Amino acid sequence: MSLEKQSTILIVDDNRVNLKIIGTIIKDLGTEVVYANSGQQAFDYVEKYLPDLILLDVIMPDIDGYEVCRQLKNDPQSMNIPVIFLTALTDQEDEQKGLEMGAVDFITKPFQHAIIKARVKTHLRLKQKTDLLESLALIDGLTDIANRRRFDELLASEWNRGIREKIELSLIMIDIDCFKKYNDNYGHTLGDDSLRSVAKALKKSIKRPADDVARYGGEEFVVILPDTGKSAAMDIAEKLRENVELLKIPHKYNECNDHVTISLGVQTVIPQNNMDVMSLLQTTDKCLYQAKESGRNQVNGVLALKKIQAEKTNKLVSEI
Ligand code: GH3
Ligand code: MG
Ligand code: MG
Repeated sequence: MSLEKQSTILIVDDNRVNLKIIGTIIKDLGTEVVYANSGQQAFDYVEKYLPDLILLDVIMPDIDGYEVCRQLKNDPQSMNIPVIFLTALTDQEDEQKGLEMGAVDFITKPFQHAIIKARVKTHLRLKQKTDLLESLALIDGLTDIANRRRFDELLASEWNRGIREKIELSLIMIDIDCFKKYNDNYGHTLGDDSLRSVAKALKKSIKRPADDVARYGGEEFVVILPDTGKSAAMDIAEKLRENVELLKIPHKYNECNDHVTISLGVQTVIPQNNMDVMSLLQTTDKCLYQAKESGRNQVNGVLALKKIQAEKTNKLVSEI
């Protein structure tokens, strides 16, 4: 599959004839092309679909191209979409202004078809390489699931969404039982294989698109469940526990079972401004610790967040 085929280019111009001409040139590349004839239309599209590249006219009524570019570059959602200005302005100052706004290129009229195509192609390729690198930086190399960095980002954004929308957020912390003994007795290579199998089983057990599982560290994993209440989270945690046990990975040095098992801590909160996201992580971890203390291979979700929080900071928090 060619690089261009997977891409969408948004062309923004108030002049419909220009849209058509540029669209025809670009379509030759085999990319999907979408159109907006004002800055506002461009924002509306970008908010929903995030194109791979934007070709932007400078002079437009209402919001001009510089302002469109400025706003796109100020929004974390759209800041990485490359913008190329297409304009009749030929002053060096205009070009400088466009590039300073964060545009990657500035193409002046009259348009040379071959030049537009070549530049668009270059910037699409660069964008796809950047996207690939960014996605690799968020994946755990051993298990192929989200890494700690990805989890931290996800947690921060779901925490903020929880505050805005006043919805519950659940976390499940998971730790493989007696895994040091596994490594010591079966070797590190089999240890790595087991980590991969456990990660796969966890990933397969969570169903909703918003849910995710990440490798939190060594033999620890974390599941984030946005908009999920305590009892649903407890059910999911129990399912995770069962599915790992069902892998039947032999582990005769496990203190609680003949196979590889996990212990899990579960917490649910409605995030609030006066709460610290760390308190959710800490209390979930305490639940996990209690699951270990109570004999491993089990789920614990009883610890009261309110109590822990009160002990730590004397802040008022709500318990679900
Ligand atoms: P507990 O049931 O209390 O969790 O005991 P544990 O032995 O699992 O816990 P501990 O924290 O003492 O040991 C964790 C072990 O996990 C240490 C290390 O051998 C293993 N481990 C951590 N990361 C990796 C990894 O990337 N690969 C392999 N093979 N093992 C790892
Ligand atoms: Mg551990
Ligand atoms: Mg462990």
